[in-house]
Amino acid sequence: MLQLDSEITYIKGVGPKRAEILQSELNIYTVGDILFYFPYKYQDRSRFYKISQIRDDVAVQIRGKFCCMKTEGTGKRKYLKAEFQDETGSIDIVWFKRIDWIKKDIKPDVEYIIFGKPSFFKNKYSIVHPEYETVENFNNRIKSPFTGEYSTTEKMKKFYLNSKTIAKIIREIFRLGFHIEETLPAYIIKKYNFPPIKEALRNMHFPQTINKIQQAKQRFIYEELFINQLTLIKQKKLRNETVKGIRIPSTGNFLNKFYKEKLPFELTDAQKRVIKEIYNDMRSGKQCNRLLQGDVGSGKTIVALMAMLIVVGNGYQAALMAPTEILARQHFENITEMLEGMNINIRLLTGSTRIKQRRIIDEELQNGQLQILIGTHALIEDKIQFHKLGLAIIDEQHRFGVVQRAKLRQKNKGIPPHIIVMSATPIPRTLSMTLYGDLDVSIIDEMPAGRKPVRTIHLREKQRGQLYSFLRKEIAKGRQVYIVYPLISESETLDYKNLEDGYVAIKEFFRAPQYTVAMVHGKMKPDEKKAQMDMFVNGEAQILVATTVIEVGVNVPNASVMVIESAERFGLSQLHQLRGRVGRGADQSYCILMTGDKLTSEARRRIETMERTNNGFEIAEVDMRLRGPGDMFGTQQSGIPLNFRVANLLTDGIVLKRARQDAIEILDKDSTLQNYPKLKEKIEYELKNSFGGVG
Ligand code: ADP
Ligand code: MG
Repeated sequence: MLQLDSEITYIKGVGPKRAEILQSELNIYTVGDILFYFPYKYQDRSRFYKISQIRDDVAVQIRGKFCCMKTEGTGKRKYLKAEFQDETGSIDIVWFKRIDWIKKDIKPDVEYIIFGKPSFFKNKYSIVHPEYETVENFNNRIKSPFTGEYSTTEKMKKFYLNSKTIAKIIREIFRLGFHIEETLPAYIIKKYNFPPIKEALRNMHFPQTINKIQQAKQRFIYEELFINQLTLIKQKKLRNETVKGIRIPSTGNFLNKFYKEKLPFELTDAQKRVIKEIYNDMRSGKQCNRLLQGDVGSGKTIVALMAMLIVVGNGYQAALMAPTEILARQHFENITEMLEGMNINIRLLTGSTRIKQRRIIDEELQNGQLQILIGTHALIEDKIQFHKLGLAIIDEQHRFGVVQRAKLRQKNKGIPPHIIVMSATPIPRTLSMTLYGDLDVSIIDEMPAGRKPVRTIHLREKQRGQLYSFLRKEIAKGRQVYIVYPLISESETLDYKNLEDGYVAIKEFFRAPQYTVAMVHGKMKPDEKKAQMDMFVNGEAQILVATTVIEVGVNVPNASVMVIESAERFGLSQLHQLRGRVGRGADQSYCILMTGDKLTSEARRRIETMERTNNGFEIAEVDMRLRGPGDMFGTQQSGIPLNFRVANLLTDGIVLKRARQDAIEILDKDSTLQNYPKLKEKIEYELKNSFGGVG
């Protein structure tokens, strides 16, 4: 009887060399590993073809005999040829490799079953390197008409570790027998009518019917998501129990003063609710770990500011980290302006902060004089140490990863600061459950009053004339315009050329009456960028030509037109983010998507979605369907595995929801999982491996 942790080397047909390759190529070390290496599809081997039925190049299975085998050609061109006959005709079979071995292996007058893809060549069908096997072996072996196909790599194939060999190894494991304990609690198995684990495993590898494959698959999808959710929720509970949070006993004087005297508008109900949620966390004595989600323009910055004021009012420091220098600077300027006269020490730290200024920041951070620090990645450099960091906020979290979050957490000696991560990128529910399942979530689901939805218009290149006259009209009304060019990679000279040509053309076109055009892109020096950006923010420039550096966060309420050039080259969430730059004031705003005359169907789908809806969540769902979840948020970066073994976040959203609900319930009843040792073991393993202690 094998154990799941028995090494794979000892299974017949493996041996040390293949074991090594299974390890390096597929991460398969043990019997358990290979049992959970599932086929990616199944061949239906229940159907047999007659040779006369072969029509096109669909893989076929035929029963018959080999004859007339001979080698042809010479030297490197040598090949082996045979005919394969049944009662309806014959086809050619050709081998280029392992000729000597095959010559010996295949016997005349013995019935074989071959399987392969025929091609039509010189007026006859032929198959190159078919799978073959005697009818006798086939009948002994095939207990199920479906054959699983396992994915393999080039390197594996070199050592004849193909799909069939893997099936053989697994079959051998089933023949020897192995011991496996049920992972899922009995009541869950009963609730969903899942097959028990061993049966499900057998049906994944050697199914009898399509139905059995489905049942087994459903079980493993559920299991995978259930373990994922248990791990995340457990992680959250552990943190709540073991990590102390800084106690913030009151809302403090600064917040109260700001609220009464400075707040430039009435907060939306959603904003009020979210601030309460944050404050409740902070005063609970537990650490606040919260994702603040709200569509672009929903007003997250003011919430962040008020949260910072609470901790500062209690004698702690606060930090706000943004993904780009432009955004960090803008936050700094906005916040400085809003807090004018309140006597709060705020500073900006970015990659281009001068040494002298850095020294001041260092010193004030450590002696506690610095109250609010705003900046870019520069904030999490190792040398930055706070005196009493009470709250760290990450803006546009999707641009950062788990690691950055963890680093901020360590910026305090002793008790970690409260953490808020903000994201405008609407994340489909299924994704946020797995990506941020260990965080509490607050959602701003309401826009400030008086906003008019942005109108989105698609124009093709041949309608460019319309675009320019429209822009002229809007600018004449006193509005400002963004014109954004795609920049797929910072090094693409062609993209820069487009941008600069566009800049020149627009300058030329808007020369009379005299309008000023500013330009920002990633290759500029920070000072130059700042000067150009300032011109637009102050209203001196009517038009800003830019790359996507302005995608996140930039806020110029008087800008009411967003033109996106070559819009077909942008992804959906990016288009939505860009559109979010307008529609911030009281005027009717427009987003104009310029595209070439011909579009791929996928590009058309993106443009149509943009025209149809302003709802970020709807857009995120479409985006995920078009792109696949793994691609959406640079998941390598996030450090959380989104590529599940069997589950698929696109299609298994309902299962995920159930799994999450079940995970919450079971942990509520039995927080240490002492009644479910098998689950406990799995979760401990995951906590150790997937999260590496961070998070
Ligand atoms: P985002 O959530 O995209 O970060 P911002 O925080 O930049 O949005 O806010 C967008 C704009 O809306 C800013 O100009 C901000 O001053 C304004 N704003 C925020 N909250 C309100 C509100 N309750 N009423 C009116 N305007 C608001
Ligand atoms: Mg923002």
